[in-house]
Amino acid sequence: MEAKQETKLNLDGIGMTSRRTRERLIAGLERKGIRNSAVLDVMRATPRHIFIEEAFSHLAYEDRPVNIGYKQTISQPYVVARMTEAVLRDGPLDKVLEIGAGCGYQTAVIAPLAGMVYSIERIKPLHDKAVANLRLLGIDNVELMHGDGSRGHPEQSPFDAIIVAAAPLGVPRELLAQLADGGRLVIPVGGPAGQELRLITRRGEQFHSQMLDHVRFVPLLQGQLRF
Ligand code: SAH
Repeated sequence: MEAKQETKLNLDGIGMTSRRTRERLIAGLERKGIRNSAVLDVMRATPRHIFIEEAFSHLAYEDRPVNIGYKQTISQPYVVARMTEAVLRDGPLDKVLEIGAGCGYQTAVIAPLAGMVYSIERIKPLHDKAVANLRLLGIDNVELMHGDGSRGHPEQSPFDAIIVAAAPLGVPRELLAQLADGGRLVIPVGGPAGQELRLITRRGEQFHSQMLDHVRFVPLLQGQLRF
């Protein structure tokens, strides 16, 4: 088989990763309350199976997190949809910061809906996977960085949206300061027993917080890891 055709087959998926299996996931997200059609369209078009080890590919279009090694998971599709929908609600996303790229699934979902995405991951092998995955998908409006994102990325601030995929015990002040006026921060907050997913919107120097869901994320840790 020619290499190009093989890549296409791999992206389209076969059997357990086929188009029909993906449609079932999207129908499930709609049933759970995801309404934004741009978000649903991007998720329908995003081949989640390429982000997952082949041994787990039967789980790629289940609405659940899946192990990606290094004690981390690829986020549950519903949670990715909910976070993306929340930051898109109040207007366009020229500049987005993501903290906790993992292997790049949420990054691939937000990138087509944004101008430019900056994304930080502290575990080097996962950062490397994210780089390879986004390259395979031809996504080029993302700057992936290996490092500790717990203090955000002041050099590129302000951001229209900041998406955090790991939970601190409280909302880091630095992240609030890096929101543009009208900007949105979506962040899980709390300890290992469970967290609240919060949407915080900046209006001038005021910050409005809304509880979106109960969620369970890995903790937001400090420092970077090379392994
Ligand atoms: N966005 C990913 C979720 C990956 S899980 C997806 O769509 O599947 C969360 C990730 O946050 C983990 O890979 C973890 O290593 C990373 N993380 C935790 N603390 C971090 C920090 N301080 N800076 C950057 N990444 C961090």
